[in-house]
Amino acid sequence: MTAPRIALGAFMLESNAHSPIATRAEFAANYLQYGQDILRDLASDAPSGPKTLSGFWESMNASGPWQPLPLLGAAVSASGPIDHAFFLEVADGFESRLRAAMPVDGVFLSLHGAAIGTGEVDPDGVILERVRRVVGPDIPIIATLDLHANVSRRMVDAASVLVAYRTNPHVDMAERGEESAGLMREILAGTKPTAAYVKLPLIPPSVTQNTKSGPYADIITYGQSKVDARVMNVSVVSGFSLGDTQKNGMSITVTTRNDAALAQSLAKDIARTCWNDRHRYVPKLTTLEESTKLAVACGRDPQKPALLFADVADNPGGGGRGNTVWILEAFHKAGVEGALLGVFYDPTLAAEAHTLGQGGRFKARFNRDETHPLSGRFEAEAEVEGLHHGSIVGRRGISAGHTIMLGPMALLRVGGIRVVVISVRQQCKDTAMFEVFGLDIAAARSVVVKSRGHFRAAFDLLFSDDRIVEVDVPGLTTPVLTRVPYRDVPRPIFPLDPEMSWSP
Ligand SMILES: [Zn+2]
Repeated sequence: MTAPRIALGAFMLESNAHSPIATRAEFAANYLQYGQDILRDLASDAPSGPKTLSGFWESMNASGPWQPLPLLGAAVSASGPIDHAFFLEVADGFESRLRAAMPVDGVFLSLHGAAIGTGEVDPDGVILERVRRVVGPDIPIIATLDLHANVSRRMVDAASVLVAYRTNPHVDMAERGEESAGLMREILAGTKPTAAYVKLPLIPPSVTQNTKSGPYADIITYGQSKVDARVMNVSVVSGFSLGDTQKNGMSITVTTRNDAALAQSLAKDIARTCWNDRHRYVPKLTTLEESTKLAVACGRDPQKPALLFADVADNPGGGGRGNTVWILEAFHKAGVEGALLGVFYDPTLAAEAHTLGQGGRFKARFNRDETHPLSGRFEAEAEVEGLHHGSIVGRRGISAGHTIMLGPMALLRVGGIRVVVISVRQQCKDTAMFEVFGLDIAAARSVVVKSRGHFRAAFDLLFSDDRIVEVDVPGLTTPVLTRVPYRDVPRPIFPLDPEMSWSP
């Protein structure tokens, strides 16, 4: 096979079951591309597509001749369940474009793995299954998954290899694409992959899933210690706690080089080890009252080390609206000085600021068009200190070197707080989101970020872990799982049913 024909595609959505529906328009504002446009984007200086796809494409280019056959790419960071009509458009698009591209020697898909839909419980499984149906049983299908994927049996059965991220914040996305390219070359040369899968009745709260240290770091390391000449890939997937489906829960997928018994025994062993460690997945949050006191003190005393406050319950990267007002309101009322807050999703407010122009003073009405009750409303005198078109390039962290679409942006000064307002919902995952306005983050006395954890890969040089405060406020992405209105997760499940027992 001199130049294998490899079909490429992407479908990435993390669905918070309690967030508003993910629409076609939302995908189009983030990443929605077809055919050759996908390759043009990959070849650009700052691609807007998934880093896994970039990693796969670059590694395939570097490892020999091949013929990429781009299908379609649809990605949005996190939202609610996907609108069913649009999901059918995506699934039909994959199938018809793949049929037109046949024959193919392999398929690579950048998936997230935690999508749900208004008319389909397992969109990722459906896409993999439909692709499998077109290519037949013998063609390799390799898919990357976010480590927040809620993996289903259907996904494992339809794919040849599932390759999940191993870092949180996700700084290894390009590497996992490269790994997939290596596995694709190997399978094309004759290796037969065999996978085993175990689902655990365990939902670790989002803030307990960091991979620098802690229980999740330990189990990832344990899993990787099993990778050798017989074991192709071990994916220890923490899952997305806010999916609220039968697919929720951590999962272990082990793919071996044609050794089914080994895959089974390893998957069970890793699952058992993980289960035995379940009591370590406990969030440590700080109340809003205490956080406000800390921010006031930082503003008053320049000798104190500056603090970063993470609004973990309103993380757009987990389907949060990116516009809850609770921290802004409390900090403003208490007279906090020298603070930065970002990024606040309010297209109406950003548009108003653009109309007023730089230097405009007005009463800023946050969330006048928002209807979700957890978002709240807030009004205050404000001044427009900066305006930006909102297409920026990530500088450090999970989107470094990639284009981030934020829509029209505005920098508002609200008392002692400077607020960055955006028009396309995104989490605060890059320092560039402040720096495009000329702000010096190092000079701020406190910084509030709407992000659960990905900010850590961008703000790490400015804020060590001991200067990060995870604030306990209401929001769609609260890590306090007893407050999540679960309906559909399988029960019993830990930690909702703390006394339960289980073995793989
Ligand atoms: Zn993730």
